[in-house]
Amino acid sequence: MRIDILTLFPDMFSGVFSHSILKRAIQKGHLEVQCHDIRDYTLDKHRRVDDYPFGGEAGMVMMIEPIARCIEQLKSERDYDAVIFMSPDGVPFKQTAANRLSMMQNIIILCGHYKGIDERIRDIYVTEEISIGDYVLSGGEIAAMTVVDAVARVIPGVLNDETSALSDSFQDGLLSAPVYTRPADYKGNKVPDVLLSGNERLIRDWKLEQQLERTQKRRPDLLNS
Ligand code: SAH
Repeated sequence: MRIDILTLFPDMFSGVFSHSILKRAIQKGHLEVQCHDIRDYTLDKHRRVDDYPFGGEAGMVMMIEPIARCIEQLKSERDYDAVIFMSPDGVPFKQTAANRLSMMQNIIILCGHYKGIDERIRDIYVTEEISIGDYVLSGGEIAAMTVVDAVARVIPGVLNDETSALSDSFQDGLLSAPVYTRPADYKGNKVPDVLLSGNERLIRDWKLEQQLERTQKRRPDLLNS
């Protein structure tokens, strides 16, 4: 899968892609990420990418031309399955969306900044809009990283043990069961006996029970959706 990220701050991404699971996904060839500096696509001699909003609001708005030029350039090179704009008024990001996007070949993720982007970019190019939560970030970069991370870990082959992504929270509409490792007894705080029993059926039942109990207690909305 290839992800092209359009941003005014490409340097923000270098760290996240060179560690842990994202690094491995890229090294193993499951994922290719290219960051494009929108500023490289302006024809303005001062390299301006933002301007005052019509109607006199406070703040700056990212201009159409550099973004359009960048998207057009990419689209002339390959077909894209989705052009995604990160936005607080987008569709709330869920595991189901991460799973769906992970099946795609090529996607573009556009990061806004300042007051946002000229609405006409959304009208002309954007095929879906994603919000990572009901709060406003300074820019779409951290939101895009969140989406790329969630998508990458469900691309088949990225995690060593493929079932480990399937047992994560939300994959089956439930929160995950608690997990433990050694020591089995930490200053009197013991791991539940069943996990040490070696009885697979009992362990499976216990995990499901824990998942249901946790979901009921913490996120009852998941059980009703
Ligand atoms: N004026 C806009 C917010 C702009 S914040 C509004 O009120 O809706 C600047 C940029 O940060 C946005 O264009 C978007 O790309 C990104 N952003 C901010 N919050 C976000 C969120 N919750 N999810 C995804 N992207 C977000």
